[in-house]
Amino acid sequence: MGAPFRQLTPYAWVTQSRVYTTNAGVFLDAGEAYLLDPGITPTELDAVATFVAAHGADVRGIVVTHAHWDHLLGPTRFPRARVFAAAGYAAVVSEHGDDLVRQVAAWRSADGQPGLDVFVPPAPDVMFDDRICIHLGARSLRLMIARGHAPDHVVLYEPSAGLLWAGDMLSDVEIPMVMDTFSHYLQTLDRLSHLDVRVLVPGHGTVTDDAVEIRGRFERDQAYLAAMRECVAHAVADGASLIETVTRCSEVQFAQPDTYPNAHLWNIEQAYSEMGGRAPGVVGWAQDWLTEGAAC
Ligand SMILES: [Zn+2]
Repeated sequence: MGAPFRQLTPYAWVTQSRVYTTNAGVFLDAGEAYLLDPGITPTELDAVATFVAAHGADVRGIVVTHAHWDHLLGPTRFPRARVFAAAGYAAVVSEHGDDLVRQVAAWRSADGQPGLDVFVPPAPDVMFDDRICIHLGARSLRLMIARGHAPDHVVLYEPSAGLLWAGDMLSDVEIPMVMDTFSHYLQTLDRLSHLDVRVLVPGHGTVTDDAVEIRGRFERDQAYLAAMRECVAHAVADGASLIETVTRCSEVQFAQPDTYPNAHLWNIEQAYSEMGGRAPGVVGWAQDWLTEGAAC
């Protein structure tokens, strides 16, 4: 049994994976369906296929929000669908394709799913810079580049419902994970904060249509990123070593300190490198590519 499908708007549904509480999207109207990061386990992907078929629709396209393994397992299940991704996706997969294959294999092994075909990162049919629109009935699904969590990170916005599918941002269960740059992440949040957002779907965690909660998630993540950037910038300006910088900036407050013990540390290291600090060896989120079953 897959998870239930919750209807968000007349044309949009969400269902949640048992893995990392990852949210999968189904956008459906007039016999056409578009999916967004549609599930992780074979059971979940089958449930999406059954749901779409029960609504008399064909899957026309799949949006891949970014090239982290837990967002990439859908296209193989729907081979006729056109895959949409950011232009930056190609570079990430070119550099880290082997890491993605290894991470999926490690997760499948740990999850007790032997015998599946070897994972191959999806090859997008449509890659775009800045933004692109998918037309679904009378509506327009805007896909927008939203760098910060990853260099190829994409969000989806549908203006009539004020629906923002935020990818791996604005979560109630994860702190910001800056696998790209702090500058990009802050610019992205500033840009998105000016949208009329009435329904917020994070890549992982709880969907909300509470205006106070939506505003609070923006403000909390923006405050954290700004405080981290300021702390690390001062340390680098003082000529602090990476270890000294980690000590100083460990004091920056963040949510869920027990959930992802490495995330805050790697964010500090990431900022240190970004701001010109001399880091010894591989630091920051580059370590995540070396970790089996990591990333989200
Ligand atoms: Zn991610």
